[in-house]
Amino acid sequence: MLIRKFQIAITLSLCTLLLAACSEPAAVGTAIRNVTVIDAVQGVRSAQTVMFDGDRILAVQAADLPIDAATVIDGTGKYLIPGLWDFHVHLTYDSRLTPVMPALFLRWGITSVRDTGGLMGEILPVVAAMRATDSIAPRVFFAGPLLDGVDVVYDGDGRPEIGIAVPTAETAARIVSELKDQGVDFIKIYEMVRPEVFDALVAAAAAAGLPIDSHVPLALRAREAGPQVDSIEHLRNIEMDCTANAADLHAQRLQLLKNPERIPGADLRAALHSLQRLPAVSAYDETECDAVIAALSDTVMVPTLRLNSINLAPPYERVDWDAALAQLPDAVRLEFKTESDRRRSSAPADVTYGEWSLFLTGRMQAAGVPIGAGTDTPINLSIPGYSLHEELEMLVRAGLTPLQAIESATLVPAIYFAKAAEMGSIEAGKLADMVLLDADPLADISNTRRIDLVISKGRVAQIEPQ
Ligand SMILES: [Zn+2]
Repeated sequence: MLIRKFQIAITLSLCTLLLAACSEPAAVGTAIRNVTVIDAVQGVRSAQTVMFDGDRILAVQAADLPIDAATVIDGTGKYLIPGLWDFHVHLTYDSRLTPVMPALFLRWGITSVRDTGGLMGEILPVVAAMRATDSIAPRVFFAGPLLDGVDVVYDGDGRPEIGIAVPTAETAARIVSELKDQGVDFIKIYEMVRPEVFDALVAAAAAAGLPIDSHVPLALRAREAGPQVDSIEHLRNIEMDCTANAADLHAQRLQLLKNPERIPGADLRAALHSLQRLPAVSAYDETECDAVIAALSDTVMVPTLRLNSINLAPPYERVDWDAALAQLPDAVRLEFKTESDRRRSSAPADVTYGEWSLFLTGRMQAAGVPIGAGTDTPINLSIPGYSLHEELEMLVRAGLTPLQAIESATLVPAIYFAKAAEMGSIEAGKLADMVLLDADPLADISNTRRIDLVISKGRVAQIEPQ
């Protein structure tokens, strides 16, 4: 006790000598001063100072108030948006890309990703590494395998193995419970499940408290399946329910799905798509489709327009495509380059489905359906990180405002995972994931590519322009 009193006395006398240095605790954290803050909760706030320390935003305040921070970044003329999400990725789809994906995502301002399908044995170590303390990686939310029907599409035969069979309602309950025990953040229902298995998966997910991501199973209609799940990918099979003869198309699918010859799942699915997709688009019926859209009003739609409408905006026509390719490992870069050269020299591809996807996304947005921004990286020439900015541009082309496009990659994903109290906007108390831009993304959504700094889990990374 005596020693402690002595120490206090010494400290006081030192402070008397040093005056100001001891009058307040040492400044901590980082301040971005005089920046325009843009998010989907408060819109545009100009002349702000945003302070953060560790993984938390401490304050968002007027730029003329005094600040006390260890590091001050001048945000004059710059724009601060919440860290972006890619709401549809596959970290384990291509093992050559898996190790470089976290850094590529961060380089492009993606501070959170949702992995929508990978086998547990492969995805679990990747997630563990990304979540390790001090790991430089986006936050990650994962589903585990695609929960498919007896005829699995992604069965490893000529395509990656990322799906598993869920043959019966009983297995559905057991599998969801096992996935929950292994830590998944949501489940992903795929296209070949039977109606009774779909119902069992929905019930099991509800019991486990897990959100559901889904394609509309071919055995169901979008207006039936959609309201029971939390998100739908690629607008998949919705066109088949947007026609005056939707009931007939459904009956035809049920017949073919019996699959007495046991055609492999991928082939059967492809056959059904080519049999019904374009005819359904050409038989579009507005009244029927409005009923479908109304049924989906609480389901996040992740249209992956970069994928669906790739023929309308081929990534390899972009001036920065070669520079983006240069960020990939050699083998993947060569593969992407060969494939883009092949497409460039081929006859123009059909754009009917791409245009329909833009059209339907615009109608859904106008009707108030929440839209999520996802790419399906690395499928179909998708470069991790880079491609999310293509998706934002396509969402604006479909009819979203730039702020709504930002919302689709920030607030909508946060709400999906019940994380809006911590993520999705720039406010005191929220996690420190932000992107500092050199140009106004509301003037042109392409300006989300003009990245100066990325702040991920409170750590600041300077980004070199391409
Ligand atoms: Zn996918």
